[in-house]
Amino acid sequence: MPPFEEYCEEIRPLWESHWLTNMGEEHRKLEEALKERLRTPNVCLFTNGHNALECILEALGLHGEVVTTPFSFASTTHAIARKGLTPIFADVRESDCTIDPERIEEAITPRTCAIVPVHVYGNLCDVDAIQDIADRHGLRVVYDAAHAFGVERDGVSAAAFGDASMFSFHATKVFNTIEGGAVCFRDPALYDTLNQWKNFGITGPEDVEYIGGNAKMNEFCAAMGVCNLRHLDEEVAKRRAVAERYWERLETVPGVRVFRPAPGVRANYAYLPVIFDPEAFGATRDDVFDALDAAGVGARKYFYPLISDYACYRSIYSSDRTPVARRMAAQVLTLPMYADLPLADVDRICDVVESTGRN
Ligand SMILES: *Cc1c(COP(=O)(O)O)cnc(C)c1O
Repeated sequence: MPPFEEYCEEIRPLWESHWLTNMGEEHRKLEEALKERLRTPNVCLFTNGHNALECILEALGLHGEVVTTPFSFASTTHAIARKGLTPIFADVRESDCTIDPERIEEAITPRTCAIVPVHVYGNLCDVDAIQDIADRHGLRVVYDAAHAFGVERDGVSAAAFGDASMFSFHATKVFNTIEGGAVCFRDPALYDTLNQWKNFGITGPEDVEYIGGNAKMNEFCAAMGVCNLRHLDEEVAKRRAVAERYWERLETVPGVRVFRPAPGVRANYAYLPVIFDPEAFGATRDDVFDALDAAGVGARKYFYPLISDYACYRSIYSSDRTPVARRMAAQVLTLPMYADLPLADVDRICDVVESTGRN
């Protein structure tokens, strides 16, 4: 959270204008600031990342099958299904848990209209291979970049890949607006369309052209974003120190794998995922989860279960078809990660993890 006084200063004008929502001054300010920060010409704000994803899928006029990953948060597949599209799951790569381009290619049929990959934990997908597949098959690419705020590869922002990228500004993300989200997109013509979709499809004082929803970010959330953005570099630097400590401690432990950023990548240190190979480590992920829980440490099985194993999808899909994703879901644990986590606590957490393995 930003300093309290700073937020109060930011929202003071709202008491004078009484302009609380419907694309006011803070909304405009945040959109401009994000264009600069994400180095992208086109940004549209939303109430949350999920509505942003639904909206862009709808605005692109997609119909048919969408190739996506089961190793993600519910939102990714739900957005596809709720827009009347058919999710088709492709397996992920062992190396970084992002969707495997070779598996995407196998999943394509004449009905495929788009690919919705996820930059899981802020690990960037193989964006070049994915774009190549999309170009050859005439498909749209919409990234779920909920985890990838501020991530860059060779100086190119995560917001620049594909036809569009959705970012989430939920309270739990690296950059937050309490609840919030945005779509960054390539075609500038989409700006008006997205603004209309997020406001009931209203196109003029007496015109309603689309069956739109209501997904406008309000002024208080936008003000939170304007403030938080000023402190983001500091936040990420602190997270980096925490991540480095975890990695130093854990990457030498047999059977434990961490995700160091790939060469040329500027990471955001959003999560601290760790993969436990039960054979080499001598204990399972669930053993580590239980040991941490007993020590009062809240780790998360993120992502477990796979989306294809949710009650609402498992009668249609089988996780047998995505064996790598299924294994990752069984072996991954995300450890506590936030800017103000003391390094002494990181050491304590790593001690618990290490001793579980030796047992
Ligand atoms: C957080 C998240 C979302 C949804 O974002 P909200 O802002 O919470 O609606 C979508 N996909 C992934 C991978 C996420 O982590």
